[in-house]
Amino acid sequence: MAWSATGLGGECPGRGDRSRGSRGRGPADDFAALGTRGVGSVLAALAVAATLLMLLSEHRLVRRTLALLAGGAVLFAVGLFGVGSVLHSASRPSNWVIAACDVGQGDAFLIRDGSQIALVDTGPDPKLLEACLSTMRVSRLSLLLLTHYDQDHVGGVNAVLGRVDTAIVGPVGDASDSRLREALTRSGATVRQVDRGDQISLGNATGTILWPSASAHVEPGNAASVTLQITLGGVSALFLGDLGEDSQEALRRLGIPHQLDVVKVAHHGSADQSPQLYAEMHARLALIGVGENSYGHPTAKTLAFLRAAGTHIARTDQQGLLLVAPAPNSQLTIWTDRPSG
Ligand SMILES: [Zn+2]
Repeated sequence: MAWSATGLGGECPGRGDRSRGSRGRGPADDFAALGTRGVGSVLAALAVAATLLMLLSEHRLVRRTLALLAGGAVLFAVGLFGVGSVLHSASRPSNWVIAACDVGQGDAFLIRDGSQIALVDTGPDPKLLEACLSTMRVSRLSLLLLTHYDQDHVGGVNAVLGRVDTAIVGPVGDASDSRLREALTRSGATVRQVDRGDQISLGNATGTILWPSASAHVEPGNAASVTLQITLGGVSALFLGDLGEDSQEALRRLGIPHQLDVVKVAHHGSADQSPQLYAEMHARLALIGVGENSYGHPTAKTLAFLRAAGTHIARTDQQGLLLVAPAPNSQLTIWTDRPSG
């Protein structure tokens, strides 16, 4: 299996200095740091040439072939070229802080601080979620955050019942939502309903709930998606659930983080978004949990305004499992289990 990675540099045009706290040195630091050692400029040049050809090629098969030729290039190209290179490696970063599971049309994102792991939504299918948990060697969840109760966000919950310490949830809309809460309680989880301003702990990280807000009076469902802001290993992230444009605009007016590292795009990239929200957050990386669907997700409109905001896009339907890890010099590293395109 070929893994790809993208090194996103700390320097983004128009972006100010983004100083972060110091991070622990992990295997991915060594991985990236290898790029500055004398392994050979010829290999590096070949790898970069393959990468550039891959990026320039219109033909899918040529892109795939060149992607494989570029395998291992991450050892050189991250250190030498840093910004925006598409790279490949056989190994996953052990210091990942966000993992977007490939669960088809739906969301299931693992986040981690130290030894504590949380899951944001479960995707639609317990088998697909279990496969991701197994791949990531996750057996216990300190937190389960259910943004709302639609099947593409809670349908996989049976895979984690009995393995959750605390479940964070939003307002219930009907009896089936209440039954899900009761099932979580019966399985041993402490169920906690949250609102804007509440805080959650994961390892040494403290996350803040930005939505729903009691002042906004939204109905349960997409519009009330629990929205989490949290910084993990120095990587700031925001998870928007399935918030639509009206809720996003209300959230923006209440106050949002700027200069984000990672945004989990709302509603699988649907067109019901506030481009202004994404422009103001100016995230370096957008993650989209999406699979085969008849809704046109992610939409061309959303992809276009993300690119216009200078945000790199990674999506589970094209790239499979996505891992985000901090890298030296304020870079982000992204591993994917398939080359894009
Ligand atoms: Zn959804």
